[in-house]
Amino acid sequence: MGDDRTLVEPGPHGRRAKGLAGTGVDQAGVAGERCGGVVAGADAGAPVLRMGGTVVNHGHMRSSAADREWMCSVCGAQHSGLNMVFGPSGPDSWAAASPEDRARGEISRDVCVLPTDEGTFYFIRGELRVPVTDAVIGDFAWSVWASLSERNMQLAAKRWDDPNRVNLDPMFGWLNNRLAPFDPPTMNLAVNVHTRPPGVVPLIELDPSSDHPLALEQQEGITLHRVAELNRLLLAE
Ligand SMILES: [Zn+2]
Repeated sequence: MGDDRTLVEPGPHGRRAKGLAGTGVDQAGVAGERCGGVVAGADAGAPVLRMGGTVVNHGHMRSSAADREWMCSVCGAQHSGLNMVFGPSGPDSWAAASPEDRARGEISRDVCVLPTDEGTFYFIRGELRVPVTDAVIGDFAWSVWASLSERNMQLAAKRWDDPNRVNLDPMFGWLNNRLAPFDPPTMNLAVNVHTRPPGVVPLIELDPSSDHPLALEQQEGITLHRVAELNRLLLAE
């Protein structure tokens, strides 16, 4: 794989990302966009990787909901209106960065460049998919950000519109979001970033050897009841 983990750092050290306000998690996805349960999965065109560019904050995204009612095999209740995609609109390191660093940086819906005194950090948004084991509802997905090395980010940018970009080796990165439902925190978990065809964000796979609860959920899947629980936790505030 394109493993240059020695070249990619999890994020700026000086200002440790504290996570976004509240849970650090917003609903992700794009209202009205629905594609077989795959939402928030579309990338938004070629990234322009430049320094000091205009900061484009796409704001919070919303996911479509799984509208129908589901009889829960765990609690017997009817679960309905479930959001199947959640995630913050940027890396936690971006949220924690100084206004000065952000002004020199750039964020789009899909990529983020963060210049700091400690160097420049690169992040890409992808989908961390979690299968749902007891309902034909499609995967649950976290729309999350991972750091990439400069070399891999340049490669991703160069091949952005290349139909053959699926042949790129997985790229090593560090998850750059703290997802509120999980303890220990998900920040800086090791991931592999798998490029998909143009127009679709990459898949983010947690290190298969990890025994983090989120890694286990990704490997083993979750129940619809857990999806409902995550909805309740994430939409609570
Ligand atoms: Zn239930």
